[in-house]
Amino acid sequence: MSQAPAFARTVAVIGGGPAGLMAAEVLGAAGCAVTVYDRMPSVGRKFLLAGRGGLNLTHGEPFERVVSRFGEASPALRPALEAFPPDAIRAWAAGLGQETVVGSSGRVFPRAWKASPLLRAWLGRLRSLGVDIRLRHLWTGFDGAGRPLVAGPDGPSEPIRASAALLALGGASWPRLGSDGAWTEILEADGIAVASLAPANCGLHVPWSEPFRARFAGEPLTRVAIRFGGDVARGDPIVTETGLEGGPVYALSAAVRAALDRGSAPRIALDLRPDLPEARLAGSLSRPRLRQSTSTFLRKAAGLSPVAVALLREGPGDPLPVDPAALAARIKGLLLPVTGTDGIERAISSAGGVRREEVDGRFMLRRRPGIFVAGEMIDWDAPTGGYLLSACLATGAAAARGKLDWLRAR
Ligand SMILES: Cc1cc2nc3c(=O)[nH]c(=O)nc-3n(C[C@H](O)[C@H](O)[C@H](O)COP(=O)(O)OP(=O)(O)OC[C@H]3O[C@@H](n4cnc5c(N)ncnc54)[C@H](O)[C@@H]3O)c2cc1C
Repeated sequence: MSQAPAFARTVAVIGGGPAGLMAAEVLGAAGCAVTVYDRMPSVGRKFLLAGRGGLNLTHGEPFERVVSRFGEASPALRPALEAFPPDAIRAWAAGLGQETVVGSSGRVFPRAWKASPLLRAWLGRLRSLGVDIRLRHLWTGFDGAGRPLVAGPDGPSEPIRASAALLALGGASWPRLGSDGAWTEILEADGIAVASLAPANCGLHVPWSEPFRARFAGEPLTRVAIRFGGDVARGDPIVTETGLEGGPVYALSAAVRAALDRGSAPRIALDLRPDLPEARLAGSLSRPRLRQSTSTFLRKAAGLSPVAVALLREGPGDPLPVDPAALAARIKGLLLPVTGTDGIERAISSAGGVRREEVDGRFMLRRRPGIFVAGEMIDWDAPTGGYLLSACLATGAAAARGKLDWLRAR
């Protein structure tokens, strides 16, 4: 006799990013007949891009610190994160044959570094759970009966026949990968409050001189600290054509963007030798220069790379001070003006989304009973460090459990 599924219902998940795929896994494992709809020709495109520079899946720091990274959204996300904490994410990846390692900064990566082996194994698991993935299917809203409407490649929007639906449509960064934020207008027209999607974890624009840009765009600045307001972020930012990008820049980008929005002219301060006290640096710079060029002298006496030396000249625009104390002060606090941030199309993530008061504790839309939401489309934000994917996976799983509870109650 064939075994009856534990929980026989047809459910639709719209959006095949990490949040939607995790929801599909939880629902499929509970015995639901799951169909995932995605507008793109393949799922998980942003997840694959995230893996290009090393898939930072989660973070190894103490759990309370992880929760605190979500700021005001922490209380709303806590139950989901508690139910699927970083250790469980690592165990989940290991279950898909992808052991993880903790980097020196505490960030967690698959040993394979990229996302593709994990996604391949994940899709295999979903297939074995009977999850049906329909590509090139665009969600366009709801019909009069509240059923989600999806337009396939061959025809206009049709209502989905499912007991319940879960939306995991992402934010609006890198729109060419599928999540373009077009859903915001549809939900707003439905009376659901959405905080505008804005670039988060994005590069900062610094007005480089043409020679500096031509020579150094693409070069990393290693082991520096960047200060803005009361915050300090350390790491290896990269010089770009338009300014700076990379972990420490992203960490400060929200505060800098807020300052720009207020109309102020923000300046970030770079410490090019954060581990060396200023007095010791000034002492090293007091050595006789002999006949060394400035670059050679600064490389030997202060351990600065060519890009760091060029940046010292770039900053305030005036000649480099000769006085060792003044030179040390510039190396430890190089002020760079910021004129803007990268647009949402180049940002790592987007702030804003479905306002938290619009969803209940199960991630169901209060105004649309039976419709659940998950992932980056909800109004929360976090720095880079694996927190974004952690919350997408955790809310995907939590919304799926919420949906199961809701279906059982009916
Ligand atoms: C360059 C880059 C690097 C990153 N690196 C990391 C990292 O290392 N660690 C980390 O934690 N995070 C990282 N992120 C962020 C992370 O990838 C995202 O937060 C995450 O993918 C969001 O997951 P999601 O499932 O909510 O949405 P998405 O991954 O955006 O998926 C949403 C899906 O919904 C589909 N969709 C949208 N609208 C519709 C519609 N109307 N109809 C049908 N389908 C639709 C889209 O096609 C897409 O497949 C990175 C992001 C970028 C851009």
